[in-house]
Amino acid sequence: MKLETLQPIGAFKIRGATYAMSKLSESQKANGVVTCSTGNHGRGVAYAGNRLGIRTTVCMSELVPENKVAAIRELGADVRIIGISQDEAEIEALRLVEEEGLSYLPPFDHPDIIAGQGTIGLEILHDLPDADIIFGGLSGGGLLAGIGVAMKAVNPDILIYGVTMENGAAMMASLDAGKPVQVPEAESYADSLGGGIGLDNAYTFEMIGRLMDKGFLVDEKHIATEMAGFIENEKWCSKALPLLDPQRLSNTG
Ligand SMILES: *Cc1c(COP(=O)(O)O)cnc(C)c1O
Repeated sequence: MKLETLQPIGAFKIRGATYAMSKLSESQKANGVVTCSTGNHGRGVAYAGNRLGIRTTVCMSELVPENKVAAIRELGADVRIIGISQDEAEIEALRLVEEEGLSYLPPFDHPDIIAGQGTIGLEILHDLPDADIIFGGLSGGGLLAGIGVAMKAVNPDILIYGVTMENGAAMMASLDAGKPVQVPEAESYADSLGGGIGLDNAYTFEMIGRLMDKGFLVDEKHIATEMAGFIENEKWCSKALPLLDPQRLSNTG
């Protein structure tokens, strides 16, 4: 297990956000960055902006729950509440790009975001040079595209397997259709894996088609069983992690 749950925001998204933001030009850094993700990517961007001294703006709709708004605000982002749908929030984000010169950082379909997530693959190779199969979560595909490029460059025989929920698996449906398609969004325990891949997908659709060796769809019952197993057998629980001291955990194995 590569426990990215131990990252400061509880997910690997700080890798892509930090790398992409560190590669901005000085004037882009001065103008700041905008995103409309309210999930782990939004938190990653806010966290990275805080650390790198880059102003970040996260556009979201009135429907986003107060605790999510507060979590992103706490990381230092300027939160703009616009309209009652994610689409309206996105329009505002694009307006800030056009009119105020902010840089837009999408959650997965961007070369530097993909490269940043790919550092996970390099770390696995460093720790486990004999790794032969990697299972990873699949949503927009930035994570596995990055890991796939990084690991297959070193060892072309490594197999990359994507795992996603049965309900609303946009990348898997797109691969089946041979082009990016939209699927109805459904509630899932795997709440970080929702959302589409973008009908105008530029990178991850092609990369996942080329680099992912197999995809697995998991139903809600199995997701729930494994989550419970993780808590019961491995004593890992992402919700409880902020309460634990990562330093102590890694010292005690
Ligand atoms: C973003 C995310 C994923 C999926 O990453 P993609 O690059 O969109 O495929 C998987 N798990 C968690 C916890 C995430 O935050």
